[in-house]
Amino acid sequence: MNHTETRKPDFDFDNFTFGIQSTDRMLLASYQQGEWSDYKIAPVQSISLSPLAMCFHYGQTVFEGLKAFRMKDGNINIFRMESHWKRMNRSLERMAMPPLSRSLFMDGIAELIKMEADWVIDDPDYSLYIRPFVIATEKKLGVDASKEYLFMVVLSPMRAYYNKPLHVKVETEYIRSAPGGAGAAKNGGNYGASLLPQINAKKEGFDQIIWLDAREKKYIEESGTMNILFILEGKRLVTPALSDSILDGITRDSLLKLAGEAGFLVEERPVAIEEITARIEQGERVEAFGAGTAAVISPIESINYRGKSFATYLKSDAEMYRLKDMLTDVRKGLKADNYGWNQ
Ligand code: PMP
Repeated sequence: MNHTETRKPDFDFDNFTFGIQSTDRMLLASYQQGEWSDYKIAPVQSISLSPLAMCFHYGQTVFEGLKAFRMKDGNINIFRMESHWKRMNRSLERMAMPPLSRSLFMDGIAELIKMEADWVIDDPDYSLYIRPFVIATEKKLGVDASKEYLFMVVLSPMRAYYNKPLHVKVETEYIRSAPGGAGAAKNGGNYGASLLPQINAKKEGFDQIIWLDAREKKYIEESGTMNILFILEGKRLVTPALSDSILDGITRDSLLKLAGEAGFLVEERPVAIEEITARIEQGERVEAFGAGTAAVISPIESINYRGKSFATYLKSDAEMYRLKDMLTDVRKGLKADNYGWNQ
């Protein structure tokens, strides 16, 4: 998309809270009688649904989260849109919901962003967050897969999200998802069920939770709503291998690819919490961070496991910052895009 930057005139881009402000327009399409139709871009508006609509009762809701950036050359980049489209369809499939065509998702979002281009300003900490979602709208109280859906996309301005390193607690009571469950899908219920343990951890003074596997409560899965990665010995990038209980994060995937190019040894494997705590206890340098679209990387400062705190390596020469810069440089067009991620 070729646009020179103009700034939305009546919005304070330096001072706002993420997620409560949408841009001016949204995308809508509805699914009826086996097909998506009524595609339109309209002013952001309230929608009207029957209280019997199935999304209110049985959790058929799926969402995505991706971002648009203003690049060095003035164009707008929607980062890894195709990967987000594919993941959305995997989530929809898991929730017995109909897939979105490539053109409805990708051309629809591109058209919406083009119309909202003055919300995509050139600023290193700024991005426009894109939230596509699908909800079940059929009126029916019987438990079933809905035959009607609504697809919408809203946009929301965003600045660097988590800015201070996190104190995280390893959750040993609740789990996020289990083998055979829906943890690899971005359906609303996964997030609803994670709130109570997250609130409890906050009350105890932690910023976030590390989730363990459901079977043995031994292996690390994710951190909050991010994937988790470790850098051991300053050169081994280690992260839990994907499974049906871990979300296939696009930031995770991007970092693994860039790290491989940059000479890191990349390991996707089970990571026992006790491996990490033992390494720290033995005085090894362990970097730990969450990875996700919102913040790219969120450094972890300490890991609390069963009441004991373990300090990770956070100094300014930590390799995770180098990885973060590599990814942000690709997104902004400052570094070669060898994988066709920028659109
Ligand atoms: N895990 C979970 C549970 C998430 O919700 C997210 C955010 N989508 C991620 C990981 C990170 O995924 P991504 O890098 O694609 O944003």
